[in-house]
Amino acid sequence: MTDHSGAPTGTPHAFQADVSRLLHLMVHSIYSDRDIFIRELVSNAADACEKLRYEALTKPDLINDEGGFAIKITVDDADHRITIADNGIGMSHDDLVSALGTIASSGTRAFLDKLAQTDGEEKVKGAELIGQFGIGFYSAFMVADQVTVETRKAGSQEAFVWESEGQGTYVTRPIPLEKAPTHGTRVTLHLNDASHDYAKPGRLARIIREHSSAIAIPVDVIEKDGEDAQRVAEGSALWTRAKSDIKPEEYADFYRSLASQFDEPALTIHWRAEGRQEYTVLAFIPGSRPLDLFDPARKGRSKLYVRRVLISQEADLLPGWLRFVRLVVDSSDLPLNVSREMIQDSPVFAAIRKGIVNRLLQELTKTAENDSETFKSIWENFGAVLKEGLYEDPERRDALFKLARFTTSKNIETARTLTDYIADLRPNQTDIWYITGDDQKRLEKSPQLEGFRTRGIEVLLLSDPVDAFWVSTALGFEGKPFKSVTQGTADISNVPLLEGETAPSKETSPEIATLIAFMKQTLAENVDDVRASDRLAESAACLVAPAHGRDRRLEQILAQGGMGSISKPVLEVNPSHPLVAALASHFAKGDDKTLIEDAAWLIHDEARVADGEPPADPTQFIARLTRMMTRAAQAPSA
Ligand code: ADP
Ligand code: MG
Repeated sequence: MTDHSGAPTGTPHAFQADVSRLLHLMVHSIYSDRDIFIRELVSNAADACEKLRYEALTKPDLINDEGGFAIKITVDDADHRITIADNGIGMSHDDLVSALGTIASSGTRAFLDKLAQTDGEEKVKGAELIGQFGIGFYSAFMVADQVTVETRKAGSQEAFVWESEGQGTYVTRPIPLEKAPTHGTRVTLHLNDASHDYAKPGRLARIIREHSSAIAIPVDVIEKDGEDAQRVAEGSALWTRAKSDIKPEEYADFYRSLASQFDEPALTIHWRAEGRQEYTVLAFIPGSRPLDLFDPARKGRSKLYVRRVLISQEADLLPGWLRFVRLVVDSSDLPLNVSREMIQDSPVFAAIRKGIVNRLLQELTKTAENDSETFKSIWENFGAVLKEGLYEDPERRDALFKLARFTTSKNIETARTLTDYIADLRPNQTDIWYITGDDQKRLEKSPQLEGFRTRGIEVLLLSDPVDAFWVSTALGFEGKPFKSVTQGTADISNVPLLEGETAPSKETSPEIATLIAFMKQTLAENVDDVRASDRLAESAACLVAPAHGRDRRLEQILAQGGMGSISKPVLEVNPSHPLVAALASHFAKGDDKTLIEDAAWLIHDEARVADGEPPADPTQFIARLTRMMTRAAQAPSA
């Protein structure tokens, strides 16, 4: 594998740029939980066996060794080596290059960025990240300064070796068949100085028991030149065992190897469906949020087995809004020897899918009712994804509405349900009011909410991008329509004021009406209308969408995505505000027109800023503001 000078021989290849950076970061900034490398390699070996088991359904000749699938790990303490051998599917030369020389995972970029940010300072975090991005194989370089992979694809007459020191390049070359496994892969780690302990059989066996005991293929640890193999994992599929026999740690370990995550599952759901379809499901809701949760290319990880044969690792068993759930389904009703595609098209598959979604929703509802702490963390992590179901899955909308938690203007500390909201409706309140935006802190302080506050009307503060979509399609909850506080005229005058509050009045003097008409003329290019408002208390003005327009936030999101343009908003001014009153009287006296024009623009720009937007024309904005300030500074002091 190496020539006499120690340098690897064979065809040199360069890793993709990202990979070498990744390797560097991995080796230099993540030391905390190096143990996980063995779990990653064992899970790859098990995957390879399960892949071959599936292929062999139609081509039994592919398997040409006896004794069944097994993973054999040989440790060589004297030479500081570990070899993980499987008799699975193996890799062709192309497989080697694409699987071990590229990281195709969509999350790689995000991973690198995140890792570069934490660089070293938070090593634990870094290790947690590895698994989340499916870059398991590379974790070998945490413990090895050279990794050799000898492999032969089942049914192929060629075998290859892949070798790398994890420094930016790897080599591949053909090897004689007699030096390769009959089919399958042998991964040899040449342990680095800090990792020699891993070649002690006792230690390795303990780690495997701890991390990989629920794997579906048996694992043996063999001491080089030693007597016998030590079976460290039985290869019995966890989900087939009785619930009462499974310890919580076993579930958690299995979850970690299934999800490639490092946390505890927030919820473990294990059930057997009987009746028209028989299947077993073992599902987990992760305890933390993967970084690439919102990447549309991210696939769920649902493993579909038919009578213990793995059919697909990415079965389409869950709708997008449940994509964070990790699960295994084992069915006894699906046909085994047809293609994956045919299985996924079968009515039995559709029925299983539906059964799973219903059950998961039931379990979430139960958790929300009986274990609010757990549900709270699930909602914090995945609420934004679950809300996608509100518009993607109308059939389940009501069930999801019951789960949904909201931050509202009433109490931003505790999340509220729509049922809470309805229970606290104010007298004569007929709508569920909401405001959308991207920054919850700013939403809370929006001028548009002032009038609602004086009447004690609760407003949902919706700050997830998905919110703008579902509110625009949802008809309402318990007969109460959703209404935006930033859209159209907000008629809340029937709702009584809270004690001590005075009603902002829309009543305008002729002076103010003239001012408003002038402002409308001045701002005509930027606003659809200027009108007096009754939704403001302290602020001078705010922007709202015209009555039949789209929600302003939704418009912004769509425009950013190149879909549709932004329509002109309506500027509402507060007739009771001292600034407005003063301007109106100046205008009536025929005072300096530029002053009034400047003020109109500045009021408009302020309203934009309150909505989180920049002034319409920053240069003009500065010029106007400077003129105003100069004027104020030069005015004789009273
Ligand atoms: P993942 O397992 O999430 O796909 P890994 O980095 O662990 O990511 O492995 C990358 C790929 O390398 C695998 O998807 C598989 O195609 C290939 N591979 C790794 N180990 C083996 C093995 N023992 N046998 C066959 N293929 C393997
Ligand atoms: Mg893997």
